[in-house]
Amino acid sequence: MPDLSRFSRRKFLTTVGASATTAVFLKGCMGNPPSDTTTQQSPSSAPAVNVSGGDTPEITKIRLGFIPIVESAPLIVAKEKGFFAKYGMTGAEVSKQANWASARDNVVIGADAGGIDGGQWQMPMPHLITEGIITNGKKVPMYLLAQLVTQGNGIAISGKNTGKGIGLNIKDPDYIKAFEKTEGRKFKAAHTFPNVNQDFWIRYWFAASGIDPDKDIDLLAVPPAETVQGMRNGTMDAFSTGDPWPYRIVSDNIGFMSALTEQIWKCHPEEYLAIRADWVDKYPKAAKAVLKAVMEAQQWCDNPANRKELITIVSGRSYFNVPEKVITPPYEGKYILGDGKPNVDDFKKGPLYWQDDRGSVSYPYKSHDLWFLTETLRWNFHSGAIKDVDAAKKLIDRVNREDLWREAAKEAGVAAADIPTATSRGIETFFDGVKFDPEKPDAYLASLKIKRA
Ligand code: CA
Repeated sequence: MPDLSRFSRRKFLTTVGASATTAVFLKGCMGNPPSDTTTQQSPSSAPAVNVSGGDTPEITKIRLGFIPIVESAPLIVAKEKGFFAKYGMTGAEVSKQANWASARDNVVIGADAGGIDGGQWQMPMPHLITEGIITNGKKVPMYLLAQLVTQGNGIAISGKNTGKGIGLNIKDPDYIKAFEKTEGRKFKAAHTFPNVNQDFWIRYWFAASGIDPDKDIDLLAVPPAETVQGMRNGTMDAFSTGDPWPYRIVSDNIGFMSALTEQIWKCHPEEYLAIRADWVDKYPKAAKAVLKAVMEAQQWCDNPANRKELITIVSGRSYFNVPEKVITPPYEGKYILGDGKPNVDDFKKGPLYWQDDRGSVSYPYKSHDLWFLTETLRWNFHSGAIKDVDAAKKLIDRVNREDLWREAAKEAGVAAADIPTATSRGIETFFDGVKFDPEKPDAYLASLKIKRA
């Protein structure tokens, strides 16, 4: 059993992979080590609460939803490695959600009525739920508390389209645009839920090569199993998806990867932790305890020495329920792209949970919320329910609680250098050279050739 107290207080200098040498400094949290770090199956087996001073949470239980994909690992690890219990959340539960729509419906219901208090979200679901935009008008204010992960997603293309130069740049956009003439149907692409990350990634990628995702192709939400079946039998052409699919698509001979999202936008924000605002307002110390546990889990996940154990934990029956060998390559940053593209083999190109080359992964930058909402304006999602950039900024100020992240980080003893000083990460650059300056979102919108705004 690892000695977490020693682990969490040490700086680790680790060599990553065989070639790349990367210093990963894991600055620890200050709480007391749990007496039992292996399993927390029920509150009765959890260690005694021993949180210093006035940090004792007002409540010890919370139910957090997760989707069984790599993005959810910090929540699962916080549970399985005893970090929730360490900070006093001895009754924290992580609850597998059937899909994004179920997660949304369950947070509207709330944990007291059999739903969830919060959990893992694609963006900008917390903002949309807050405004009642995707909940039939029912407004359930949410607080965004942390980013869970970066990268780990990609665009898969079916084998039928091999050899057509469909990569990060699409060499022959007319091949895709002419599909209706040549195939009797439009080029068909899928994501798992509309108007969120994976929809944004594939839209950005198509539009950068001059393909209008609303006009030149069919792009729709389809369950992953159905999408993959369609890719096998030649009725589905593209899939915007997350690990482990980018690996499986190639290893199972379904197709190839045109691009990884880390190539589209290096160190991009991916999924987030958000909890109902009424819960956080009622139990602010418990919210910070949850945050501290997730932060410690994120640091634990990023330590290469822990990846093997991480894979064992998340692949388990209650979680991803997949063979370990399926998620091992993506967790090592190993991707076979296929269709003549060079393979990727770089730990830092796989999912990262605590820090990446741009700094903090965990801290929820308001500038990233603004990109997601600006992109929402770009595609005129939700018939203009979010009116303009100013309305977006006001909504972000209500939903994004980076202040709680900072407080929790300080209380947990996270090094000052690991706590961003600004709510903006600054200018973001995409693979096609387009820049998003969070100070000038309207200029970004104006610069885009394909848009509905
Ligand atoms: Ca994702």
